[in-house]
Amino acid sequence: MKKCYMQFLFLILSVTVVSEARASEVIVRLFDLRDCSVESLLAEGYDIASVNRSENYVDVVIDESYLSTLEKKATSFRIMPESWVRLLPENTDDAGYYLDPAETLAFWTTLATTYPDLVQSPVTQGQSFQNRDIYSIRITSSSGPSDKPAIFFNSLIHSREPITNSVLADFGMWLASNYDSDTMAKHILDNSEIYLMPIVNPDGYADNMTGGNMQRKNMNYTTPVTSSGIDLNRNFGYQWGINNSGSSPNPLDETYRGSAAFSEKETQVIRSFTNTIDPIGSMHYHSYGGMVIYSWNYENQPTPHQSTFQSWASAMTAQNGYQYGRCGELMYPANGDACDWSYESSEHQTCMAFGVEVDDSGFWGSQNDTTKIAELCAECRFMNILLCMNLLASVGIENNAEASGTGILSVTGISPNPVMNSMNFSASIPSGSLAVTIFDLSGRRIDQFDVENLEAGNCRLNWAVPADAPNGVYMLMIESGNQITGSRFTVLR
Ligand SMILES: [Zn+2]
Repeated sequence: MKKCYMQFLFLILSVTVVSEARASEVIVRLFDLRDCSVESLLAEGYDIASVNRSENYVDVVIDESYLSTLEKKATSFRIMPESWVRLLPENTDDAGYYLDPAETLAFWTTLATTYPDLVQSPVTQGQSFQNRDIYSIRITSSSGPSDKPAIFFNSLIHSREPITNSVLADFGMWLASNYDSDTMAKHILDNSEIYLMPIVNPDGYADNMTGGNMQRKNMNYTTPVTSSGIDLNRNFGYQWGINNSGSSPNPLDETYRGSAAFSEKETQVIRSFTNTIDPIGSMHYHSYGGMVIYSWNYENQPTPHQSTFQSWASAMTAQNGYQYGRCGELMYPANGDACDWSYESSEHQTCMAFGVEVDDSGFWGSQNDTTKIAELCAECRFMNILLCMNLLASVGIENNAEASGTGILSVTGISPNPVMNSMNFSASIPSGSLAVTIFDLSGRRIDQFDVENLEAGNCRLNWAVPADAPNGVYMLMIESGNQITGSRFTVLR
């Protein structure tokens, strides 16, 4: 009886929040949950903005008039600044220092005009529920192999997370403007096609420019008629709706998964676009909280690629200190999300898909702080570069063929690659002595050493990266028995 009453109460709460009380919403930080959990808060219909298990707090979005419902949930709570939850009056319509919809399109169009050899003009891939264009941009060079693998970045699937749009713009700008001067930018664009889809949920984003501010879901309020939109990041087709954990059947919840997998036009666009470009990896941007997330997300169990996901995420977060792990480890399991489907669907090859929660201040907290936005973009740029270099190393572009047998010199197994401080590599050597030289791609010698008294055959060696070696792509050359060979690797730290 009590449970029924609670469900009724929260149904009313949800209706009120959505239909009438937007202007009085606040983000509340709950410290040390009592007699409840993140999962039970979700089940009660609370809108969870972010979770930090290591510091033991949960942020919820709630109408001010319902603050008293939180009193028994936590040891203490704090109301976060207004700028976290809405655009301040001076920024209404243009999103402050975030990019509004028109600015976003203008940015990508201008980038394509400025770097026509690298950046494609935005291409419409389909329409949203309200018939807005959902577009992508491809960035690549005309050099390199003809069948380059694709890597996919997308943002604003949740339309109240504007820093994610800034992160993609920053990365696109970095790739294009550094192609001629940075060996990693050149390597990425010579060896892959980078695809970016900056506004996956254009209807929600447009609504947020006109006073919505907290629209997370799409704008399909018609199926069913009581819906307040569908959470597009619960509408994907891998293990969709397997249970109600982090994915709600209630049309008023912020995690409402829709009436069927891929019921929404926006997820259909991502589905067909992903299947067309068939990416080897992808980055799905969200905010906020400072996390890197990998599958499985529908349940808290490791995938067959757990060790790779974990080691890449560990390196990606070495600078910014983001937490990393599966969704269920960091927040709560959630089925029907984009990463699980991108990683595992039989409709395309295995894609190393990562979700990122950018560490912004609430949803709109950097609207007047261009310095903070630049910092967040830079810390995500490092992760984007590292993901690309890891992906390209793992598909074999960096490595020579397998060790080719006795008497033939070869080098294999550079690990880790990209490297921060120290790396190992294997050599198959025809004689007992080996000369190792490290060059940067301008041909400048970075380091050189000889190894004597080896047994001919296979050996494993180590090289410590000099502290003053800048980030970039390098060449490891080895020489033995009048033979010479090499392999590229990346320094990134
Ligand atoms: Zn999100």
